[in-house]
Amino acid sequence: MVTGECFCGSVKYQITGKLKDARSCHCSRCRKAFSSQASAYALVDGDFAWLLGEERLTSYVGEHGFGLRFCQVCGSTLVGIHDGQVHGITLGCLNDDPEIEIGRHIFVGSKAAWEVIPEGVVQFDEGDGATN
Ligand SMILES: [Zn+2]
Ligand SMILES: [Zn+2]
Repeated sequence: MVTGECFCGSVKYQITGKLKDARSCHCSRCRKAFSSQASAYALVDGDFAWLLGEERLTSYVGEHGFGLRFCQVCGSTLVGIHDGQVHGITLGCLNDDPEIEIGRHIFVGSKAAWEVIPEGVVQFDEGDGATN
C-alpha cells in the first residue's frame, strides 16, 4: 500500500495494490499540466481511495475525456482521470516508495530548450506505441 497527499495536506489518498507503467512525458502540454519539465505519472493497478479532502479537489478535463484533479487550496496535481475515474497518479505527490521507477521518457523530441536529459535514460522522440 502507498499513500500520497498534496503540498498543503488537505487531500490524501491511498492505493491498495500496485502502480505500473511509470513514465515521464516531455511534451509541451504535459509541461504546462505538471508545471514542470515533464510529467511524472504512473497507472494505478489496484484500488484507489481518497482518505481526506476529496471535497477540496477540483478538476480540469481536456481532450478525449482525460483530465487532472488538483487541490483547490495549494494547487498540487494529484491524479489523472479518464471519464471521471482515477486513471493514474502523479509521482510527485506520493509519500512512499512505489517500488517502481520511471521506465521511459517520451516526447523528448519536443522537450523544453532549457531541459538537460541525463544520459542513459530510456527515451523516445515521440510516443513509443503505447496508447496512453
Ligand atoms: Zn493542498
Ligand atoms: Zn505529454
